Amino acid sequence: MADNIVAKDTVVKLAYTLTVDGEIIDMADEQDAIEFLQGHRNIISGLESQLDGMKVGENKTVKVSAEEGYGAVDEDAFDEVPLSEFPEDVTPEMDMELELKDAEGNDLYGRIVAIGDESVTMDFNHPLAGKELHFEVKVVDVRPATAEEIAHGHVHSHGGHHH
Ligand code: ZN
Repeated sequence: MADNIVAKDTVVKLAYTLTVDGEIIDMADEQDAIEFLQGHRNIISGLESQLDGMKVGENKTVKVSAEEGYGAVDEDAFDEVPLSEFPEDVTPEMDMELELKDAEGNDLYGRIVAIGDESVTMDFNHPLAGKELHFEVKVVDVRPATAEEIAHGHVHSHGGHHH
């Protein structure tokens, strides 16, 4: 098998630039390329499926729909939070991102999308939900995964075992 081609059970080093709505929101150059196990959903499926067959050094533009990225916007993920529930030292502002706890004590990340007299509307969707993602990617390196990495479903980057 060609060991410099991206395929399931290879470890891929990928440099990328992520653009959403014409704005660069994330990037990793070749020095700090991300490393992941291909074919195990370590990265979003819409990107992963477009990498199969790429060679080391190859560049590609990959467009990922919201459905294959972070999902559609869920209308049920908007919630009214009474102002009385905010800590006294927090003044709600539009687009402010907050970590709250739900009734069971789980962490929730939300963004303020409307402020009323007695409550604010919070959006608990992923910030990239509903967005089309544009990736410019470059395959920096590909190597076969070890049997242990395949069994675990993730990369063991630095020789040591991390869990
Ligand atoms: Zn492991």
